[in-house]
Amino acid sequence: MAPDVADDLPDTSLAYTRQTVTAKSALTCAFAPDLLTVELYSGEVFPAGCRRLACPACCPRLARRRALAITAVRPTRMIRMSLVAGRKDESPCTTALIRVKRTRQSLRRLGVNPGEWCFTLEKNPLDTGYHLHCVQTGGYIAQSTLQSACESAGAGIPFINAISRPGNWSSRYGLKGFGADGYGLKTYRAQDGSEQALAINNGRLEHHTSHFFTIHGHQYGVRQAERVALSLRNEGKPTVYWTTSRDEAMRIMDDPQSRQRLIASRQSPTIGARG
Ligand SMILES: [Zn+2]
Repeated sequence: MAPDVADDLPDTSLAYTRQTVTAKSALTCAFAPDLLTVELYSGEVFPAGCRRLACPACCPRLARRRALAITAVRPTRMIRMSLVAGRKDESPCTTALIRVKRTRQSLRRLGVNPGEWCFTLEKNPLDTGYHLHCVQTGGYIAQSTLQSACESAGAGIPFINAISRPGNWSSRYGLKGFGADGYGLKTYRAQDGSEQALAINNGRLEHHTSHFFTIHGHQYGVRQAERVALSLRNEGKPTVYWTTSRDEAMRIMDDPQSRQRLIASRQSPTIGARG
């Protein structure tokens, strides 16, 4: 498999044990139920999944992976904008993107560099329109300046706060609508909202400005940023993921010698391109 295909999985809370791997779970992807991914050093087995955002089982996993990348960027402030599209707007995302762009332009006109933003739209609980959760890197923006900029862009009332403790974007600021905060075998629950969250966001987990995914001074594309975030979390512990059929996965999970051979074979470009 491609190296980026399975490496969203190394969360030990997700690891299937021998007992649970044969059981159907809410995490089982309906489109690829019999593909499993084995971490070859540990023998831990994970559902592989189809990795489509439209899949209710795979969407939370992809959202969590994205949230890890956002967290690795270590944004310094969070912004909430109360009204980025109206209740009757038929294309709230398009409207929101325009209002965000205008807000940022307005900030520049006011002499403030808006920095880099990453944001997701959510529907207001009382169906009064759409708000936005955003995390920012870069310089300080005063609440009053942001308010002026939002007013001129028609983006509602903003709140900007410093993030005092770098946390996890999935649960605190955004992506929870995609199930990112309910992920893990113990806490997983089906998300009614992920379909709606995707529709509101034009089929995307989040939107970001072009230099947002900068980690330790290096600018990455979003997929690269996800891989970097995962390797940072692994703290150098070697991991190799292997996606294969359920039967094959069951065979090698308890066979360290087979796993060692597969690890060695991953050095060969002709082997390991599955998935
Ligand atoms: Zn799936």
